[in-house]
Amino acid sequence: MKCYLVSLGCPKNLVDTENILYESSKQHIEFVYNPEEADILLVNTCAFIQKAIKESIHTILEIAQNKKENQKLVVAGCLIGRFKNQIESQIPEVDIFIDTNSIDSISLDKKFNYCNLARSFSVEKRIVTTYPYAYLRISDGCNHRCSFCTIPQIRGSYREKNKKDIESEFLQLIENGIKEVVLIAQDTSCYNNNNLSALLKDLSKFNGDFWVRVLYLYPSSITDDLIETIASSEKIVPYFDIPLQHVSDKMLKLMRRNYNKKFICELFDKLLKYDVAIRSTFIVGFPYEEDKDFKELMDFTHNYKIDRLGAFEYSKEENTKSASYSTNVPYNLRRKRRALLLAAQKNLSRENLKRFVGKKLKVLIDSPKKARSYLDAPEIDGSLKLKYERPVGDFVEVTVSKSSFYDLFE
Ligand code: SF4
Repeated sequence: MKCYLVSLGCPKNLVDTENILYESSKQHIEFVYNPEEADILLVNTCAFIQKAIKESIHTILEIAQNKKENQKLVVAGCLIGRFKNQIESQIPEVDIFIDTNSIDSISLDKKFNYCNLARSFSVEKRIVTTYPYAYLRISDGCNHRCSFCTIPQIRGSYREKNKKDIESEFLQLIENGIKEVVLIAQDTSCYNNNNLSALLKDLSKFNGDFWVRVLYLYPSSITDDLIETIASSEKIVPYFDIPLQHVSDKMLKLMRRNYNKKFICELFDKLLKYDVAIRSTFIVGFPYEEDKDFKELMDFTHNYKIDRLGAFEYSKEENTKSASYSTNVPYNLRRKRRALLLAAQKNLSRENLKRFVGKKLKVLIDSPKKARSYLDAPEIDGSLKLKYERPVGDFVEVTVSKSSFYDLFE
């Protein structure tokens, strides 16, 4: 049986896709690059914000248009959690729906008689599609209720994997040659009652040539112990990915984030005592955001010299608290603020990277002429361009000869 698979969205969705691949491979399903050769056309969707929804629908429509009579179109993931009824009525070419909650129990063999794409949250095994890094999901769902976010509706409340399962999956990854394990979740810092550092310390004890990176730390669950562990452990890269969303007290309250600007400043003051990289993401143009709020945000990113920054224009999502807010920032102003923030960041990033010129950095080779240091998470950050080709998956030390806006050069 042949399957054509498209995986959209974030690393958390990619892990779902990898679980699907694993379960399918047990059923001897072969994956093909050409949709025309496939019996099953499977799209694992993202529906976090409007942009992602559009991309998901566009992909389904494109595949549906060319679908042949003997092919089955399966749509899985977050889009189904939010819009199953609409998809069902408007895209009749879709044969099977799998949302993120029912994906555990749905068995396609009941419908197809030949395959089973079900996966379970507790299943450790999956087919890893990335190298030399791989993602490891330590929990799913979220107990926060940020006013703009649909994740708790889609993924449900927070539940975590037990430590034994995480360690077992971790070992399987490094034994199979993975050199960078990236821990992910909707909220990684609340693991084990805000004691993620205990897990990190235990993972660091495993033998092997690897490093660990953590993404998506929720600010108010970051403890001093966690900072110390990430900043000082040899096996954990000193990289803090802390999505702040905003810094103005007024906006944080409207966003229903459970911290204020004073807290953030104190946290970042602590971080900057160490030699660490900081990444954050922000939403601009959130309802009621005035020029002075936006200026506070711009000043903050400048003062704290954030190394890596992502910016989203606010996107009004159905069934969220913020969708009911009455004062919206006009579309053009949202776009302008995002462009301003990113332009300022571009210059800041260039200045930040200059400090590495002439220095030696340990890097992991991602492709023969491209590597990443602790500064760069896979897929979202910059890289270090190599002068000479090196074997993929090796750790090497290189001397930085120059820097650009986002990248370093050997
Ligand atoms: S913490 Fe993140 S996933 Fe949870 S509700 Fe807030 S934005 Fe959504």
